[in-house]
Amino acid sequence: MKISAVRGFRDILPEESALWRVLESQARTSFATYGFAEIIVPVVEKTELFARAIGETTDIVEKEMYTFTDRDESSLTLRPEGTASVIRAYIEHNLNHKEPVSKLFYIGPMFRRERPQKGRYRQFHQIGAEILGRDDALIDAELLLMLNDLFKSLQLEVSIDVNSLGDAVCRPRFRERLKAFGESKLAQLCENCHSRLHRNPLRILDCKEPGCRQATVDAPVIRDFLCDPCREHFTKVETYLRQENVAFTVNPRLVRGLDYYCRTSFEILAHGLGSQNAVCGGGRYDGLVEQLGGPAVPGIGFAIGVERLVMLLQAQERHLSTAPDVFIAPLGEVAEGRAFSLARRLRQEGYRVELEGGGRGLKAQMRRADKLNARHVLILGENELTAGKGTVRDMQTKTDRPLAVDLTLPAQAMIDVIRETSH
Ligand code: AMP
Repeated sequence: MKISAVRGFRDILPEESALWRVLESQARTSFATYGFAEIIVPVVEKTELFARAIGETTDIVEKEMYTFTDRDESSLTLRPEGTASVIRAYIEHNLNHKEPVSKLFYIGPMFRRERPQKGRYRQFHQIGAEILGRDDALIDAELLLMLNDLFKSLQLEVSIDVNSLGDAVCRPRFRERLKAFGESKLAQLCENCHSRLHRNPLRILDCKEPGCRQATVDAPVIRDFLCDPCREHFTKVETYLRQENVAFTVNPRLVRGLDYYCRTSFEILAHGLGSQNAVCGGGRYDGLVEQLGGPAVPGIGFAIGVERLVMLLQAQERHLSTAPDVFIAPLGEVAEGRAFSLARRLRQEGYRVELEGGGRGLKAQMRRADKLNARHVLILGENELTAGKGTVRDMQTKTDRPLAVDLTLPAQAMIDVIRETSH
């Protein structure tokens, strides 16, 4: 019997993984310009970490975690998100004593036992970043600016939704008011929202059920409840973003699923992904470090969903070429020996080289070069080689040029001919 992958877990095949690397390298470049450094944290943590960080009453902790008992009876969990682990590491290594501000990013798999569908998996990947040690609006705006520029550099059309969730001073008032509002609409709300109303009333605002959306059109708006410092903070974020012409929408329904968010919250949505259209989510979490037993250090962060971004790149037919720059077709054993050295030298110069041979004829090798979409073919025939020559064929223009095959010459001579052939 064939063994297939586990439901919700998938293989990333070479054609797709090339796009992953583009995304990852673009993110690394952007993050570096903003002064972020990478942190690599384990995929397994004590279950308690997520229960405390994410909140006992969230969907993730209640029903989506992959939790198991280790042989020593301790309860461990495959991480469902990255922030909790980064903060655990930040506290454990006293990073706040080393730097007043820590800017950290991570890349890796996350695990949530959700119902799999297109764009939603049980193992998925996130590229995330956290800034610990700053609570001013400038930092929030800077993080959003970095995301805006990252999406622009990937030429992806997205919209940025922002909202303020207030803080421990002003949110409780809003929460109560929203709860009372929800109770007055109980008959129109879905089952899920009934329980949300008790556990986390803000969540009724981001329910996707049409009935719930209808029932909450005139729900109280958090902006009207913000205390002065929260209002001022949010206005500053908006001002900085406008200053840099970052297009964004204030979405009063944006509440985020996790308990720890406060003040600036945001979500980045892509067009053309269907219902799973959120590609990035994040926000400020000023009490979280303390809640996890650390110092009173404020924080803000985000996580980008890699699979969804890759789907967007694929939808735009941004398939990346993995085609060889040079395909070497040697004819006969002596030529193969030469080709072996030539291939190495070209690779050392950074060329993508495919070496054929294997005793196959020219026709078969050319067919293979065509199939691989090779840019150039370097033909090394036995007779020509005795005269120290080969031929470079430009596969687009079908023009040939002779090439001196002299391994005592610097590789540059050979490269020059290959370059000239393409002109
Ligand atoms: P969150 O950690 O829930 O704020 O999610 C941040 C981003 O991760 C989302 O905007 C999605 O792009 C992505 N994401 C979250 N859950 C999944 C999942 N089950 N499958 C694929 N991507 C996901």
